[in-house]
Amino acid sequence: LRKFRCKRICRPKVTIKDLDRRPPSYADRWAPMLAGNGCSGCMACAEVCPTGAIAFNNSGQILFKHDACIACRACTDLCEPGVLILGPGIGGAVTRSELSYVGSTDKASADEPAIRPLKTPGPSKTIKIFAKSMHVREVDCGSCNACELEIAAISNPVYDAERFGISFVASPRHADVLFVTGSVTRQMELALNKTMAATPSPKLVVAVGACACSGGLFGNTQFAGAGVDASIKVDIYIPGCPPSPRAILSSIRGLQRGTITRSEHDHSR
Ligand code: SF4
Ligand code: SF4
Repeated sequence: LRKFRCKRICRPKVTIKDLDRRPPSYADRWAPMLAGNGCSGCMACAEVCPTGAIAFNNSGQILFKHDACIACRACTDLCEPGVLILGPGIGGAVTRSELSYVGSTDKASADEPAIRPLKTPGPSKTIKIFAKSMHVREVDCGSCNACELEIAAISNPVYDAERFGISFVASPRHADVLFVTGSVTRQMELALNKTMAATPSPKLVVAVGACACSGGLFGNTQFAGAGVDASIKVDIYIPGCPPSPRAILSSIRGLQRGTITRSEHDHSR
């Protein structure tokens, strides 16, 4: 019994201490991007993409919309090896345009930079009011439940969100932050708006997953919308299908610390 107790006391801790400094794992490498020159501009990747996350323009540029990417890897499997690769997944952003990148193909003019952000984010302000305590209500608006599993994982002993004061509550009336998943089906639009109204201000809205960010694979139809921001204002978008617990927690931590700043959205009523 003494030996057993010693083992329990001395065993290594499982909790990840420094989330930001940990190198990306296989699960974190999901975002397609150009590895350098070599893209011939054949457009095969855009044709195979099920969500329209890759597009080409007349200037010979390739546009990656990572808010719509479901990480199916059909594009990278189709392309020549070493041209289109899977880069580290992008963390949370305050605008969808921050989740888009433009790369140059061989058909583009020589002075185009290889990869550059499409657009700079608009005006934003730091919010640290939830720095030490953040109560979260999760709202499923038509997800496949994979995003829910990853959200639930941030409370497990490995990620231990409660050490940062992040806890889940059972009612929007007790919440500071809404985590919304799914592309917002027509039946859930009213429920989402009512949940939003029931959440006291100040509040934040976080779109978790490709469905919530852009509509994903199931959105943009007669049954589901084009993501959460088609119904309510969103403060932070976390891409991925589903985003890893680390991406979710790092994004929320960034918001708490002020390293990610939210847009000038007014949720006050
Ligand atoms: S991984 Fe799939 S969804 Fe993402 S850009 Fe490639 S083909 Fe489109
Ligand atoms: S983003 Fe992907 S994992 Fe999340 S609900 Fe949509 S399909 Fe499921």
